Amino acid sequence: MRETTRIVRAMLTPAVSGEPMHEGPVFAAPFHVTGDPAGVPYSYGRSHNPTWTALERALGMIESGENFNARALNFASGMAAVTAVFGSVLRPGDVAVLPSNSYFTARVLMEEYFTKMGVDLRMAPTAGSAQGDLLHGARLLWIETPSNPGMEICDIRALCGKAHAAGALVACDNTTATPLSQKVLELGADFSVVSDTKSITGHSDLLLGHVAVRDDNLWSGLERWRTLTGSIPGPMEAWLAGRSLATLPLRLERSCENAMRLAEFLKGRPEVARVLHPGLPDHPGHTVAVSQMRMFGPVVSFVLSSRAAAESFLEAAELVTDASSFGGVTTTAERRARWGHDAIEDGFIRLSAGCEDIEDLITDIGQALEAAR
Ligand SMILES: *Cc1c(COP(=O)(O)O)cnc(C)c1O
Repeated sequence: MRETTRIVRAMLTPAVSGEPMHEGPVFAAPFHVTGDPAGVPYSYGRSHNPTWTALERALGMIESGENFNARALNFASGMAAVTAVFGSVLRPGDVAVLPSNSYFTARVLMEEYFTKMGVDLRMAPTAGSAQGDLLHGARLLWIETPSNPGMEICDIRALCGKAHAAGALVACDNTTATPLSQKVLELGADFSVVSDTKSITGHSDLLLGHVAVRDDNLWSGLERWRTLTGSIPGPMEAWLAGRSLATLPLRLERSCENAMRLAEFLKGRPEVARVLHPGLPDHPGHTVAVSQMRMFGPVVSFVLSSRAAAESFLEAAELVTDASSFGGVTTTAERRARWGHDAIEDGFIRLSAGCEDIEDLITDIGQALEAAR
């Protein structure tokens, strides 16, 4: 069976007459346990839950490669997943190498907490795989490709090779691409970290995250962290995520296709100073992106002349909902500099292509660009 078929059928129950086709969410804090809890699969809802088990099995399948089976653990949010990797790997004196342009909150978490507890932080940009020059003595290389929101690309295979030679573990924030499009464990990463708030669940209505690994010891460290810190998803979120998985291939293919078409359209417009999308042949990371991604992701960033132009564009666009986040079925965009987090232009827009009809999107975005002149 090919991957799409497996994903569509991943949450089905075994075919037993009279049984439901899908499990419902299991709402439980304590489970019934008589006497010795050893060997009882479910005892308390902070440690395990059957709804997680079903979702994690499906996510593990998506994260697996030709020759290995990955194991996934879900978390309360993408940031809970990020924290689990930092927390289970890093100890005082360890060196962590982060992208200087990484997802903002991951950087702040590292700077506000982990460096204050003795972790030594080094940073370099994603573009050009520049982090590869900082690996001497490192414990953890943290990469993010395509980076959010700058859409910079680094070479996952090459960086994993260098990091492993230097004795470091590699974690890849795979949120923008998703593991359906980019198999980072197969490319050599030790951890695939994903905010499932984005394309994996895709309906802009919940927060969730996961980490996938192939190594059992890394898995145990993450699971221990999750149980001790309680950074667990609710059963309802996990169930909704499982329900969304069946449409992941359809949703992602459509939004990646729409993103590609919009990137090409924006490129031809005089109002647009720059378009950042790894699928464009003149993107500096395009060749590497082609070698490691099956689809180029739903995000297109582009730059208008000013803050005023970006704001007028967002106001004039009827099919582009002004909202943060990305990866939903609805097209959204925001003037990213409004948060003040990243070193980007005032007119920088991060757009997430949804699943609407592309002709409607092009017409609407075209008129909004004219209104923003
Ligand atoms: C959104 C995001 C996160 C954090 O995920 P949450 O689910 O919001 O906690 C981490 N990394 C990247 C690249 C993201 O886009």
